[in-house]
Amino acid sequence: MQLISRISFSLIAFTSLLGTAFSQEADLVVRNGVIWTVDDANPRAEAIAVRNGRIIFVGADEGVYQHIGADTDVLDLGGAFMIPGFYDNHVHFEGTGRLLYGLNLLDVSDEANFVARIRDVHERYAPGTWIVGGDWSAYETWAEGDVAQAGRQVNPDDLYGNFFLPNRSMIDGFTVDRPVLVRRFDRKVYMANGAALLLAGIRKGMPDPEGIAVERDDEGEPTGALFNPVSGAVESTVLVRDNVRALFEELIPTPSREQRIAETKEAWGKMASVGVTSYCDITSNPIYVDIYRELRDKGEMTARVRYRPPLDRWQSMADLGIKVGFGDDWIRFGATKAWIDGIMGNSSARFYEPYTNNPSSRGIWRDIMFPFERSPDNPEEMQSRLERLALEADAANIQLTVHAIGDEANGYLMDMLERIIAKNGERDRRFRLVHAQVMTDRDIKRAGDMHIVAEVQPFHTSDDMRWMEERIGHDRSRGAYAFRRLWDAGAVVSFGTDSPGTNASRYYLNPMLGLYAAVTRKTLSGQPEGGWFPQEKLTIEEAIQAYTLNTAYAGYEENMKGSISVGKLADFVVLSDNLLTMNPDDIKDVTVKRTVVGGNTVYEAD
Ligand SMILES: [Zn+2]
Repeated sequence: MQLISRISFSLIAFTSLLGTAFSQEADLVVRNGVIWTVDDANPRAEAIAVRNGRIIFVGADEGVYQHIGADTDVLDLGGAFMIPGFYDNHVHFEGTGRLLYGLNLLDVSDEANFVARIRDVHERYAPGTWIVGGDWSAYETWAEGDVAQAGRQVNPDDLYGNFFLPNRSMIDGFTVDRPVLVRRFDRKVYMANGAALLLAGIRKGMPDPEGIAVERDDEGEPTGALFNPVSGAVESTVLVRDNVRALFEELIPTPSREQRIAETKEAWGKMASVGVTSYCDITSNPIYVDIYRELRDKGEMTARVRYRPPLDRWQSMADLGIKVGFGDDWIRFGATKAWIDGIMGNSSARFYEPYTNNPSSRGIWRDIMFPFERSPDNPEEMQSRLERLALEADAANIQLTVHAIGDEANGYLMDMLERIIAKNGERDRRFRLVHAQVMTDRDIKRAGDMHIVAEVQPFHTSDDMRWMEERIGHDRSRGAYAFRRLWDAGAVVSFGTDSPGTNASRYYLNPMLGLYAAVTRKTLSGQPEGGWFPQEKLTIEEAIQAYTLNTAYAGYEENMKGSISVGKLADFVVLSDNLLTMNPDDIKDVTVKRTVVGGNTVYEAD
């Protein structure tokens, strides 16, 4: 009796073991594909099987049939190319959603398009919602994808530049129900409609608000154009203060939750259409954490997020027990974000030597570098506020990610990291050098020695090479976007977009532009022949890895994301072409045929 029951028990155990190991029924089987897995142990496959959102099989077509049961969806790729879903290392999510769902005038500099775009948003937004932003005429200075020479010449005697100047009569007819306040890309000029002017108390017979020049018609009626003060002291005129924004700031309500949700879904829709299945959200308003939670609970979340608050919030994170590894499959935490210098776009990035085209400036440090004072534990040592915060956050096992563009900014962070390691000890800390844009030879080597993550956005290369050498000269440009040398030195090169970019240029969510830039080092129009500093090119296999597995590693998620491997989340993308065999110049035109997150199709091209 006892023997029989023992035998039958072990028989049951054996059968169920067989079931788990050999013939577990899948929810989804994908077969007949050319699959590049980004898994060194098993780089190529034809088929995968998915169960409960995770991958249970990767291999040949013959091997996958055992997982097909009565309820299994089977997808025949017909020989299409498939890779892991893209993981964008750097998205300003709130701004991206607002730009995609709201007003975008970057490429607009004529009345017909100006009116059409505002009419479009007017129909999309709930009644009464302010229409703001826009950044008109951005491409009047830099045509998208063009080389520097194609840039528009601005008359140096005209402080405001003779760009397209809209007025309220173009839109007042259909915007009576809501205020509109749009701005030019450089914020020197704004345009308010009748409703916005009324709320701000700008009208005929009243003096101009302090520090703002109101354009008026022959009757003294405001036309809607509002001018900020500018200074002509430098060779290019600069904005002194954004008084218009200050005047309207109190009047413009924060966007409603409904609007934020609509923007969120718009941004996710865009991500799905370009194959992005995970992203790092850089300091969106904390309300987005709750929006993510709500949409995740409703099953409407289609991209996974790792949310990064500013570094000076580290203490409240630590108090809640939030550190590296915190979160679930959809919403994760564990890192902070800080900025130490400016950007190349307006020559505020911090360099050891002055700008080539402006010998009086080396760029700026951000506020977080001050006060710069004696260290509390060693009066001999001077310390920035950034370093004090970073030391404490690091000790609490919160990941540090810091924006650095200029060579001195990057060098300072390498120095700081050496001191942090000396004080807090060696650890698997994966320090993220955000942008790592212009680095000296010495710092590239140190970045490798300390195995930092270079959180770079390769499309910046295509965008910035048009004017980089003019601003910092040829020699320093050698260390700009030096992806090859960073990779070979031992740094972990991770890719993303920095979407939505600056007010003079959009950085698309589309990973193909980043892969194209990293592999060709050309502008979108194919310049220069052979690529800019071509010795810094990555191979396409490396570029794909930087956009998938390396970004997963950068977030301590390499065991759940980043490659098509058994046990990982079933996030993958089917493309129009085989990236490994095609002409690299055509990579920018590759499209997504299908995006799958957790085994569910979230985008399918028609
Ligand atoms: Zn950014």
